[in-house]
Amino acid sequence: MLSISPGSKPTVVLDCDGLLSDFLGAAELVLHHMLREYCPMRNAPEWSPWQKYIPGDSAQAEFADMLGQRGVCAGMKPLVRAEQMTQLREIADVVVVTAPWPNSETWMSERSEWLYKHYQIDKIVHTADKEYVWANFFVDDKPENVRAWNARWGTGGYLWDTPQNQHATDLPRLLTWGALLALVRGPE
Ligand SMILES: [Mg+2]
Repeated sequence: MLSISPGSKPTVVLDCDGLLSDFLGAAELVLHHMLREYCPMRNAPEWSPWQKYIPGDSAQAEFADMLGQRGVCAGMKPLVRAEQMTQLREIADVVVVTAPWPNSETWMSERSEWLYKHYQIDKIVHTADKEYVWANFFVDDKPENVRAWNARWGTGGYLWDTPQNQHATDLPRLLTWGALLALVRGPE
């Protein structure tokens, strides 16, 4: 783990979907459009909860295609309030590292605009290989991402608690934004 040089802020890498952006809410809208029924997913315990509603490769390919269409990424609801992000940015350099949706022509540009619009964040890395981005603290809701990051950098990777990742009991877990702020502030 690299130490923080005096006077500089720690670098915090944040995931976007599931932490800052309501990905599953957008997925619910897409499924509603496909099936004409409400398919609740936010409290589902499994990682890709849409799959149980649309078994079969062709339906899942259609879902993936619709999710990647113009406006879906841009229309996601923010999960963290702007003032909460301001509190973090006062004590840290915040970088968002986010995996683009496969085969979408608009996802990356919409995500960058979304992050600036809601949080004035302009340090953004679009990649699924998140472990190549260094930070003092890395926060993601996908267990595989946190494990890969900690395997490369030692410690500093934390799992953002969601109903979809309760099975991962091997990782340090952050349950609230307040817990993240306390972690970054360190011992008083
Ligand atoms: Mg995520």
